[in-house]
Amino acid sequence: MKNFSQKWILVLFLSLPVFACCSALPTDYSAEHSSEIYAMDTLISLSVWGENGTQAVAEAKSYLYQMEEVFSTTRTSSEVYQINQGTQNSLLSKTVLSADVAQVLEYGLYMAELTEKTFDLSVYPLVKAWGFTTTEEIVPDQETIDALLPLVDSSLVAWDGHSLTLPQGMELDFGAVTKGYVADQLAKNLREDDISSAMISLGGNIYALGKKTDGTLWNIGVQNPYGAGAILSVQVEDKAVVTSGGYQRYFTYEGETYGHILDPRTGYPANAGLVSVTVISDSAMYADCLSTALFVMGLPDAIDFWKAQGDFEAVFVTSDGEIYVTSGLSYTLASGYTAQVISP
Ligand code: AMP
Ligand code: MG
Repeated sequence: MKNFSQKWILVLFLSLPVFACCSALPTDYSAEHSSEIYAMDTLISLSVWGENGTQAVAEAKSYLYQMEEVFSTTRTSSEVYQINQGTQNSLLSKTVLSADVAQVLEYGLYMAELTEKTFDLSVYPLVKAWGFTTTEEIVPDQETIDALLPLVDSSLVAWDGHSLTLPQGMELDFGAVTKGYVADQLAKNLREDDISSAMISLGGNIYALGKKTDGTLWNIGVQNPYGAGAILSVQVEDKAVVTSGGYQRYFTYEGETYGHILDPRTGYPANAGLVSVTVISDSAMYADCLSTALFVMGLPDAIDFWKAQGDFEAVFVTSDGEIYVTSGLSYTLASGYTAQVISP
């Protein structure tokens, strides 16, 4: 078995600046402040233009390390780790949650309902059973999956805004939403520091703040899930562009490929005919939850969901190599690619 996640993170990182960063070099302003760090299991790059940029980037970095400490499922000191430990031998009843965990928990519960459990925070026991928390992925037997499935159901979480009760054995995984939450918070903090132009990239989660300093829109590349480079770029301002894809982390066993995005309804890696989903919306947290959920749904249900919601745009790449783009998106195809437009 082999895990190619590092390679793909690198490919994504190397390919995105072509659209996201290099084209953003200011023509009328010299103060660019940028930094790269590895945190939250991903390579993060920040580029900020403005007078307060140096300080803003330093604050952003310390905020990222702080959030990693809160949301990590594997660091024994993290708040989420402590919550998951608390359900090992009995139900967990907890009244003191940090504002960050409370906010993301509440939003995650709402999104599980909205997406009919294709996104579900309580997926962590399955993530562990498939070995995705380690470098030793395994295919669990059906018995193991059947035993875990009843607790993969965040409608069993009791949360009234103050106290949290989780059934014994339930464990939470904020991995499909935290980067979005953090990107939104970083953008808010930058605006408070009077930054009006910035590019925040947390692995597959991009937030493009304002416009480029020459007054034009940002061009954000959507990664080719089958190889290096981008299939298209989207033109945005004040938007999150978030991609989920099986290719971002997977392993192969006996000729089958298993990706890290699981279908909480079946306990198996999502296998609904998509290789990547990119969601473009005002909120990075919404886009993060949705890119994961739509990947699990598959194209027909994802299109219905897009029509019903009407508050985001998306790019889908199917396992037979077709590209679908929702009609509200402003985009430019890379040379050699074609796309089908989905209309309301
Ligand atoms: P993302 O890259 O945002 O799609 O998130 C994928 C990560 O979220 C995985 O590595 C798991 O830790 C977790 N996860 C996997 N499947 C789901 C799901 N259906 N709902 C919520 N979280 C998930
Ligand atoms: Mg996500």
